Amino acid sequence: MKPKVYVTRKLPSKRAMDLLFKYLDVDLREEEVPPSKEEMIAHLEDKDALLCLLTDRVDAETIRSAPKLKVISTYSVGFDHIDVEEATARGIYVTNTPGVLTEAVADLTWALILAITRRIVEADRCVRTPGCWRIGWAPDFMLGMELNGKTLGVIGLGRIGTAVARRAKGFGMSIIYYDVIRREDLEKELGVKYVPLKELLKEADVVSIHVPLTKETYHMIKEEELRLMKSTAYLVNTARGAVIDTNALVKALKEGWIRGAALDVFEQEPLPADHPLTKLKNVVLVPHIGSATYETRAKMADMAVDNLLSVLAGKRPPNLVNPEVLKIRPLEKVKMIELKE
Ligand code: NAP
Repeated sequence: MKPKVYVTRKLPSKRAMDLLFKYLDVDLREEEVPPSKEEMIAHLEDKDALLCLLTDRVDAETIRSAPKLKVISTYSVGFDHIDVEEATARGIYVTNTPGVLTEAVADLTWALILAITRRIVEADRCVRTPGCWRIGWAPDFMLGMELNGKTLGVIGLGRIGTAVARRAKGFGMSIIYYDVIRREDLEKELGVKYVPLKELLKEADVVSIHVPLTKETYHMIKEEELRLMKSTAYLVNTARGAVIDTNALVKALKEGWIRGAALDVFEQEPLPADHPLTKLKNVVLVPHIGSATYETRAKMADMAVDNLLSVLAGKRPPNLVNPEVLKIRPLEKVKMIELKE
């Protein structure tokens, strides 16, 4: 009998889907909206594996009600939607898809930086609105901020933060960063400078967030931090919405503590169309599309399936989030299949 897997969405890679069906008994969810908690619990009751998305909440209760579960493979690098502590305690392997989406998210971050500092979305809207573009060219029309010579502040100099910093060099920006650890190798290679968070917020002309969402980073940027930023500065977030206190950000944007913000991620997703953020001119909002390229989404699918099959084959998966689990339930105890080369 093949191991049973619950796959919460069809993935955009033929290779990945073929592999799943070759080795596993697949319970594939056809709907687009994320499963409810009740649905997750009902489907996981007899499953050995779960392949989920970042929109699927895998909390402690859900994990506890899946007695056979051996692996949770998420189709994302972020794993804040999974109770990893509970999974580890129960000997469940958790895997993610780091690296393959780094360049796509760094590109999107730069698309947002350029869009907000040069008012691209606002300008596009103006061209389409009768009466807005009245004079062909004017010295003070649609002015934005020049990036050359300015300072980029990167919060979280990990994979994506580093890729964003690399691109900043091409725009002639100085780069400062804040992270839990000093990255002396990158300080030399990229000429980036470590500063404490408060200093970064005071000095940067563009602040870009790249930390994971954890207990420590939840509302890392709230009223106090926003008030430290320059009134001419911009805030960009392609990490997770809850790293910023949204209510404080709305206040900051309305009252001009900062000049603008560009966001790919939100505390509430989808962002309601009547949310206060949607009423502001000095924001650019995109619907969590950081990794949304054909190439990246296919690579993520392959990686998520390879991770999942590795665990069931009793092999250490390439991207294990909770290595402590190896001691709790060794790989030979979760082995159910033999992978053919
Ligand atoms: P990463 O390589 O782990 O980078 C995160 C960096 O933040 C690491 O250097 C980490 O340090 C640091 N960090 C962790 N906690 C911190 C704290 N409390 N204060 C300061 N720095 C802290 O991850 P990544 O691949 O770059 O991805 C970053 C995040 O981007 C993901 O977690 C995900 O939420 C988000 N993301 C969003 C999209 C999107 O579609 N918008 C796509 C992919 C990823 P340590 O390594 O020491 O922990």
